[in-house]
Amino acid sequence: VGERSVIRLRGVGHTYGGVVALRDVDLDVREGVVLGVTGANGAGKSTLAGVLHGSLHPARGSRVTDIGGGGTARTSLAPEGRALFKTLSLRENLEVAAYAAGITGAPLRERLEETTEWLPPRLRDRMSTSAAALSGGEQQMLAIARALIVGPDVLIVDEPALGLAPALVDEVYDRLVRLAHDGLTVVLLEQLLSRAMSVCHEVVVLHEGVVAAQGRPGDPSFAVLAEAAYFSGD
Ligand code: ATP
Repeated sequence: VGERSVIRLRGVGHTYGGVVALRDVDLDVREGVVLGVTGANGAGKSTLAGVLHGSLHPARGSRVTDIGGGGTARTSLAPEGRALFKTLSLRENLEVAAYAAGITGAPLRERLEETTEWLPPRLRDRMSTSAAALSGGEQQMLAIARALIVGPDVLIVDEPALGLAPALVDEVYDRLVRLAHDGLTVVLLEQLLSRAMSVCHEVVVLHEGVVAAQGRPGDPSFAVLAEAAYFSGD
């Protein structure tokens, strides 16, 4: 785990009409960690996911990415709700995302192989099946695989646990943590504080668009702070 910030946000603010979604957010995504962003419904998690991804340009503030040597980070988002092409097969879902990123030919075959390796064996054997035939947990893993196909430096996953049975949540999260062990930087948007604290190396608590607490789950004093921040105003 490096100390380099792969993504650095400073003073980020965003509103939708009159609704404040993010306010003066400073955030460093450190290389090789699983960073959890947690907060209640409407705290601003999905908005922050879009800003980190670079697809949402915030009204205020700056976003800088750095992978060293002057390179900028390639970020990839597995969005809330998955947004799969249900009538397409698993392989086709991955291919469409690769094509969209300009990946074809030999690099595509290489990426497909590496990404398929990450999937659980029961999915690896069903690459020609349509996405509609998959369970919720399997669809979530395909959505993450689709984000992985472009070979990102930072993978951002927005609420993968939504609607999944607990055993499947564990499976998805185990696989995300494995990616970080292999050196990928992962940002996980997770509504449940307890789950963010058990899975992530670092946790940011958002409350009404503000970073209300930030620390490492292993630090006992942070657990108290995080809980107070998460539930403040309730
Ligand atoms: P959830 O867990 O419900 O997805 P969240 O923590 O991801 O919530 P955001 O989706 O980022 O939070 O929303 C932050 C705030 O901005 C909320 O008050 C939400 O209602 C509002 N908001 C988000 N998207 C829009 C939009 N397109 N138009 C208007 N308001 C929006």
